[in-house]
Amino acid sequence: MIPITKPMLGENEAEAARRVILSGWTSQGPEVAAFEREFAEYVGAPYACAVSSCTTALHLALLAIGVQPGDEVITVSHSYIATANVIRYCGATPVFVDIEPDTFNLDPKQLEKAVTDRTRAILCVHQIGMPCDLAAILEIARRHSVPVVEDAACAIGSEILWQGQWEKIGKPQADIACFSFHPRKVVSTGDGGMLTTANAEWDAKFRLLRQHGMSVPDTVRHGASQVIFESYPIVGYNFRMTDIQAAVGREQLKRLPEIVSKRRELASRYKSLLAEIPEIGLPVEPAWARSTWQSFCIRLPAGSDQRQVMQAMLDAGVATRRGVMCSHREVAYPANTWSCAGRTGGCACTAASCHCLRHSEEAQDHTIILPLFPQMSFEQQDQVVKSLQDALRVAG
Ligand SMILES: *Cc1c(COP(=O)(O)O)cnc(C)c1O
Repeated sequence: MIPITKPMLGENEAEAARRVILSGWTSQGPEVAAFEREFAEYVGAPYACAVSSCTTALHLALLAIGVQPGDEVITVSHSYIATANVIRYCGATPVFVDIEPDTFNLDPKQLEKAVTDRTRAILCVHQIGMPCDLAAILEIARRHSVPVVEDAACAIGSEILWQGQWEKIGKPQADIACFSFHPRKVVSTGDGGMLTTANAEWDAKFRLLRQHGMSVPDTVRHGASQVIFESYPIVGYNFRMTDIQAAVGREQLKRLPEIVSKRRELASRYKSLLAEIPEIGLPVEPAWARSTWQSFCIRLPAGSDQRQVMQAMLDAGVATRRGVMCSHREVAYPANTWSCAGRTGGCACTAASCHCLRHSEEAQDHTIILPLFPQMSFEQQDQVVKSLQDALRVAG
C-alpha cells in the first residue's frame, strides 16, 4: 500500500522528546523559546510565537488585529475548514472569493469587489504549499488599509520571489503568517503551530493570549530570585505548545531543507510522467513561486468520475484524497453564515452551489491528490502513475 503521506520522524526526534521528558520541564519553556528563535531565523522573521496548532495561530492573528463581531474577513472557501472557522470564532463573517483553477489559490482579480467598509482583514492561503499572489493581494489590501494574514499551514519551506529576491514564506511578506505542524504537513510536532510577524505589539499580544492572558509567564517566575505575583489583564486561552513538541520541532527544522528538496524533485518527476497522460490537468507553479508541494493535486480528464478513479487506485494499493474541500458546502456553513464577492450584487447562490465560487467547487469535484512524501521511491511513483492510467481506463 502506498500511503498519501508519511512524516519523516526518527531517532533524533525520539531522543529529543526523551531528553525533555527526563528534564522535568515539559510544558511551554526553554525548548519552545529555542524553537521560536530557530524558526524565526529559518524564515527570516523578526518574531515567531509557537502555539498549539495552526488553527489557534490563525485565531490569535485575527484577535490581535482586532477582528470583532460584525466585521468581515475576506478569504477562500476552497481550503481546509479551519481557515473559515477561525473567522467565525471571532464572531465575524467570512466573505469567500473564488480561486484560480490552475494554482488553487485566491484569485486577486476577484478580491477588490469583495472589499466593503466592514472588511477588517484578508486571510489568504498558500494552498497545499503553493504561494498565493501576495504582491497583487497586498497592493489591493494596502490601498484599502486592510491587514493581511497568511494561512501558511502547508508552506513551511515555500519561497516567493519578492522585490527581486527569493524569500521564505513567513518573513512575512504580508502582516502575520501562520504555520501548522500537523503530521499531514511538511514537518510535524504531532500537533502545533507558529505565528510570525514584524509587529512587536502583535507578537506580545499572541504571547499574552496563548497563556490565559497571564502578565508574567511561569518561565520568568520560575527563574526569578524575588517573589512575583502575576496578573490577568485580559481573557486569554490555553493555546500553548509543549516543550516536548518544540524539541521534536527543532529536529524537524534540521531535516526541512532535505524534505523540501526531495518533495520538489518528486513533484517535478510527477509532472514529466503525467505529461504522458492526455487530458490530465497539472498544477501550475508561477515563475515567482517555489512550492513545498505539501500535496500534489491533479485535475482529472473531463467526464471521469472522481470517486471511481480513487476507488480503482485504492484497489490497486494506492491511497489518494479528493481535492481541497469547500467550506461553503458544509452543513456547518448555512447561507446566513457567510457571504461571497457577488452576494451584494444579487448573487443567487445556494449553500450547495455558488456561481461566484464555481472554480472552487469545480476543483473540489474534479481534482485528486496523489501520494507524495520524501521517502517515496521512483518505483513507487511509477506505480502511482500506472495505477492512475489503469483507473482512468476503467473509470475515465
Ligand atoms: C491543516 C490546515 C489548517 C489547520 O492546521 P492545524 O495545525 O491542524 O490546526 C489550516 N489551514 C490550512 C490551509 C490547512 O491546510
